[in-house]
Amino acid sequence: MRVTQLVTKSLRDDPPEAETASHRLMLRAGLIHQVAAGIYASLPLAWKSIRKIENIIREEMDKAGGQELLMPALQPRELWEQTGRGAAFGDNLFSLEDRRGRPMVLAPTHEEVVTGIVKANVQSYRDLPVILYQIQTKFRDEPRPRAGLVRVREFAMKDAYSFNADEDSLDDSYQAMAQAYKNIYRRCGLPVLMAEADSGAIGGKDSHEFILATPTGEDTVITCPSCGYTANAEKASGVYRQLDAEAEESLQEVSTPGIKTIDGLAKFLNISDDKTFKAVFYMADGELVFVTIRGDLEVNEVKLKNALHASELRLADDQEVAKAGLVAGSASAIGIQGVKRVGDLSITKGNNFVVGANKLDTHLRGANYPRDFQVDILTDIALAGPGQSCASCGHALEFLRGVEVGHIFKLGTFFSEALGANFLDQGGHQQPIIMGCYGIGVGRLLAAAIEQNHDDKGIVFPAPIAPYQVHLVGLNLADEQVAEEAERLYQELQDQGFEVLYDDRTDGSAGVKFNDVDLLGLPVRLVVSPRNLKAGVVELKQRLDESSSMVPTNDVVATLRALPDVT
Ligand SMILES: [Zn+2]
Repeated sequence: MRVTQLVTKSLRDDPPEAETASHRLMLRAGLIHQVAAGIYASLPLAWKSIRKIENIIREEMDKAGGQELLMPALQPRELWEQTGRGAAFGDNLFSLEDRRGRPMVLAPTHEEVVTGIVKANVQSYRDLPVILYQIQTKFRDEPRPRAGLVRVREFAMKDAYSFNADEDSLDDSYQAMAQAYKNIYRRCGLPVLMAEADSGAIGGKDSHEFILATPTGEDTVITCPSCGYTANAEKASGVYRQLDAEAEESLQEVSTPGIKTIDGLAKFLNISDDKTFKAVFYMADGELVFVTIRGDLEVNEVKLKNALHASELRLADDQEVAKAGLVAGSASAIGIQGVKRVGDLSITKGNNFVVGANKLDTHLRGANYPRDFQVDILTDIALAGPGQSCASCGHALEFLRGVEVGHIFKLGTFFSEALGANFLDQGGHQQPIIMGCYGIGVGRLLAAAIEQNHDDKGIVFPAPIAPYQVHLVGLNLADEQVAEEAERLYQELQDQGFEVLYDDRTDGSAGVKFNDVDLLGLPVRLVVSPRNLKAGVVELKQRLDESSSMVPTNDVVATLRALPDVT
């Protein structure tokens, strides 16, 4: 491709609306064009990258036994009512009516449709297992689209679905998909972490997220550098500070004027925060829930939601707390009635805590569980945090930010039961098909790759997904001999199978051209100039190298072939 024919132009200045590096660089390098909030066109340079990613995905999915199909984005809403997901997605679901007034949706995912297809085609256990996948456009009416291609309202996704007769078979499909995902990321040149994830309310057993580490990512991953334990923040468990056992003291009121927070309380009484109990109030499906957790810990709302089997969970507001007769800032599980109480396991780890007294400006010393209060549910609802150690090996846990670039999930029989997708087992009995689902956001993977791989000059494309391998730059192209040599090299490299972007502009200065090369970040820069021509060489520089080398014109092809990843 010749730069003079390229429809896009690079921008010299940072677009003001871009918050993250990938968004800024993708706009500046002319990879994407914003049409509306969270809606982008992939321009030719990005589309070449995306097609490479898609090809890698297709090859690995096929190798793992997947069959590609294409399902419609436009679907009757009725299908979504049968599974209750119309309500569950709420305003995130793009809804519309056709000309006959029939409610329709633009699908954010395809479990309903794919289950219908399998229901119509699978009769017996002999027809299973089946893995179906597609690469297709999804729609999600995000309240806050952000970060370029990371959080958008229309996006390309590879979604796969497995259908199995039993749990062992599901496990095989799940492992095959996990391995395919690892292969896909490795072949894209991206070091992706596989993290245990929460499997949510639908009732699946296993779930893993694939996270590309970048400081600006929305997700937090907790890893153990010693044994390799990796989980996302919602799922992770850590071992927190242990306290020495003490002889139980009796409860004793203490005046705490104006103290409303754990920090304030700990300072006022000159104790550490792990010697206090923190009270947190939630509304779970409309019911007030009183949570007690050790003062040095935070509540993991996903774990709490799962423990309560709640479909909706949020913090209670002051009015809701007051209505239950509780004193915010000095609330306590001691003596309360008529409120559901949940205790984190940490309340059993220690003695003689300071806790609220349900009385303004007053706390109690010497609180001990279960002597002084009971709870309805006692379970682990603590968020793993910095300073905690690995539950398997004891090493200090590490925290990373990242972007989720894939998610695999054992669904169980939720969809097959809701939609009546059954099969006849070996004993001749009807059974619901067991399902799994497996997603990769394709555009998001490109954005995350750029987020992880850039410097202050521009993108540093991993070679396997770079739109072109070689950025050929001609300097002083008004010089006929230089133009002729650059043109010859451009043709030769293409004949040899290299993908080449040729900066054939006769007007640009060397500085402008080199800035554009660094901004787009293709793996290799080749320079043809009058001086190089005279010496019979071409200047070769890899994107991250400080210095370049001179390669005899006749050796260029062999030299490129010897570079890793450049084919
Ligand atoms: Zn460990």
